[in-house]
Amino acid sequence: MDINVVTRFAPSPTGNLHIGGCRTALYNWLYARHNKGKMILRIEDTDKERSTDSAIKNIKDGMEWLGLNWDGDIYYQSNSIKDHQDIAYKLLESGNAYYCYCTEDELALMRESALNQKKSPIYNNKWRDRIPTDVNKKIRPVLRLKTPMIGKTIVDDSVQGLIEFDNKDIDDFVLLRSDGTPTYMLASVVDDYNQGVTHIIRGDDHLNNAARQINICLSMGWEPPKYSHIPLIHSSDGLKLSKRDGALSVSDYGDQGYLPESILNYLLRLGWSYGDKEYFTKDEMIQYFDINKVHKSPARLDLKKLLNINSYYLKEKNEDDLIQLLSKKINIKIDTVLERKMKQIIPHLKTKSKTLNELLELLEYLHIKRPLLIRENNFNIYTDEVNALIQSFKTSIERIEDWDLDSIKTLFDNFLTEYNIKLMDIAKPLRIILTGSLVPTGIYDLLIPLGKEETLNRISDYLNN
Ligand code: GLU
Repeated sequence: MDINVVTRFAPSPTGNLHIGGCRTALYNWLYARHNKGKMILRIEDTDKERSTDSAIKNIKDGMEWLGLNWDGDIYYQSNSIKDHQDIAYKLLESGNAYYCYCTEDELALMRESALNQKKSPIYNNKWRDRIPTDVNKKIRPVLRLKTPMIGKTIVDDSVQGLIEFDNKDIDDFVLLRSDGTPTYMLASVVDDYNQGVTHIIRGDDHLNNAARQINICLSMGWEPPKYSHIPLIHSSDGLKLSKRDGALSVSDYGDQGYLPESILNYLLRLGWSYGDKEYFTKDEMIQYFDINKVHKSPARLDLKKLLNINSYYLKEKNEDDLIQLLSKKINIKIDTVLERKMKQIIPHLKTKSKTLNELLELLEYLHIKRPLLIRENNFNIYTDEVNALIQSFKTSIERIEDWDLDSIKTLFDNFLTEYNIKLMDIAKPLRIILTGSLVPTGIYDLLIPLGKEETLNRISDYLNN
């Protein structure tokens, strides 16, 4: 176990918390909790144009919904700009950074000529060792890091292994823009240092940044944190994820009736495994998670799998928990009468639902207002034959006194014998008449929570139609 581990989840609030971000947050959280360390939530909001309050809220709500708690208050990167600038000026003083007076046009030309010569379009170090003239000084310069020109920078990564970067390929990148604001490259390193971050777990699209950021650390005499760059999540056909593939924000998954434990389990197992174990409680995740065993190859989003996991967790939940979740979902307090009915039918319907939304839809028949709208039209109930059967069945119902499983079962048995029909002959039209659709569970189970009176009323509605 590493001691004093501090990880961080550092999203830029330019959009909602999406599924890839959740995975990064989860791995940071697991690593911190496994090592009895801390996880910081740092909102990297220095790009004021693109950062929004609604994205910040979505990130916070999403983390809370998933139960990925962070330690201490949230850090907002924009509050530490002065700290970032202080470090930039220290680097300038120590000769590790310099002002660059190139204009935008000059930089564009530089890129173009590098590309023409089939070289990578990186800054050509023009101002590395040059003294500006009075004319140059009229331009507001950017501040660049003086990165080493020979040798290699090595990223020792827990997931990717030892990755070597030739220093000649690492440009003298910008630390402060011409308006004095810090770049992400600088701000992130300074915050990580000041916040005591020991381990950085993030998407492998940041691997190149690690080589740059290590050079800031080395220039400051700081020990770089330990890196783990996890592969990005791709679509099922191996391409970059887009909304069309289900790359939704975590709140969208919640809206669609997914449970947080399903999302967590799915993301945990995406590119990591522990023997054949399929489902993990939070404590098990914390106990077994090992960042060194995360696969290097890109993970692929498999929504079918996610749905199956969700149906597993839905079945695992008891009626009380499900009622509470449903009530929260529709934002309505469920009264005791309806609650009692729901408790009777949920054990049957939860096995038929893959999401909370599906369960909600199946339960609708319990509280729907009469007369019902018949949504099922594959089967014609409005025939003389059905009418006659239903009329007789109504009379039989009126005669029974108790409304429990035994009496209802006997009622059906007698009715089937008397009319010499199969259960399906009466159950199918009845199901449509009583629910408006084909709610997929046994007819006895459907009837019990509905109650005798409501059942008779719904039948009367049909007959009087
Ligand atoms: N703010 C960056 C992002 O959202 C993450 C930076 C990092 O983890 O170093 O991509």
